[in-house]
Amino acid sequence: MTGFNQQLTAELSVLRETDLLRELRRVESPAGTRAVIAGRELLNFSSNDYLGLANHPALKAAAIQAVEQWGAGSGASRLVCGSLAVHHELEEALAAFKGTEAALAFSTGYAAAQGAIVALLGKGDVLIVDKLIHACIVDAAKLCGAKLRVFRHNDLNDLEVKLKWAAKQTRNAERGTRNLRPRVLIITESVFSMDGDLAPLRNLVELKERHGAWLMVDEAHATGLFGERRSGLVEEFGLTGRVEIQMATLGKAVGAAGGAICGSRKLVDLLANRARSFVFSTAPVPAAAAAARAGLELIRSQEGETRRQRLWLLVEELKRVLINAGFPPSAVRAPIVPVLVGAEARAMNLSGALREAGAFVPAIRYPTVARGAARLRFTVSADHTAEDLAALGETLAATANRQSPIANA
Ligand SMILES: *Cc1c(COP(=O)(O)O)cnc(C)c1O
Repeated sequence: MTGFNQQLTAELSVLRETDLLRELRRVESPAGTRAVIAGRELLNFSSNDYLGLANHPALKAAAIQAVEQWGAGSGASRLVCGSLAVHHELEEALAAFKGTEAALAFSTGYAAAQGAIVALLGKGDVLIVDKLIHACIVDAAKLCGAKLRVFRHNDLNDLEVKLKWAAKQTRNAERGTRNLRPRVLIITESVFSMDGDLAPLRNLVELKERHGAWLMVDEAHATGLFGERRSGLVEEFGLTGRVEIQMATLGKAVGAAGGAICGSRKLVDLLANRARSFVFSTAPVPAAAAAARAGLELIRSQEGETRRQRLWLLVEELKRVLINAGFPPSAVRAPIVPVLVGAEARAMNLSGALREAGAFVPAIRYPTVARGAARLRFTVSADHTAEDLAALGETLAATANRQSPIANA
């Protein structure tokens, strides 16, 4: 045992020395615009609960009702006897929401990515991902055994180079015993989680069609926010029938927990057989499925539209506040507004100073983003008020007087 803990201590020391050590912060309040941490109430600008649904009475009531009707646990995996009506109702609602034939719900978005990619790709196939793709996709890419290529962020020319390379790799190859062709799958996020920028989805779709590749779009940060049904950027760009695999998470704007893959009936049938994170895992608890379904319903209601409009007004106000306080944000079209800082230590110091002054804004560091590209990541929720943002502005101005946000300035 001594050797074991010595090894881990050495590893933790390296993290601390390089300003990469992370620690859990105990939050003593429910999800919302305030977070009680270490006995102090902070203004919270760190949550992905963009529409303020995580603690909404309608979602709480749905979760409570599901516990009463279905119990606390699901009892087994979906393929054994855990495929409860609440899960099917959620999947029907998801398919209607996304405008696809079918949907499959997973315990988390992470599990959805893992399950889908490992089920669809194997040795001899090619996976091409955007440089800034989420870790869950990178991990699945390693696990599935396909050849992996990374294209420069949102760079269609670089993607085309990779697609031509893939065509050469797969030209004369066969896949398995049924004369199937090797597969080429492109994966991007629609709204990038740490940069808040958007993928050029229309051009991506044209390109993948020209090259006979498939496309998977991770809509973790777009679901609930874009499009007439508010189902995401694929819908907003009118591409629903042209994207093979749509991935969503249910723990961000939807306000609950879980992940989903939406697409054709064949896709869902195959994943229910082959997605290992689905097959070999206990079904999500009934409360999570019911809360997610209530979240989707709320998003599609008039209240959902009102919340979304409020959110966009607050995003614009947040950008103004940041500029006025000397923290120029990146150009974004999302409720994720990063301020690039550079050095990890500097981001940590700024985040700490803001916390001291009453605002909770996380410092995002490697390995979530590249080394030396640390940033403050501001997010807003529809429940924030103009006063909250004014208070943030004052806090920022006071902090900026003491510390410049520009790296090494
Ligand atoms: C959060 C996130 C996921 C993972 O979803 P969880 O439900 O939290 O596991 C996947 N992709 C992106 C882009 C994300 O931001």
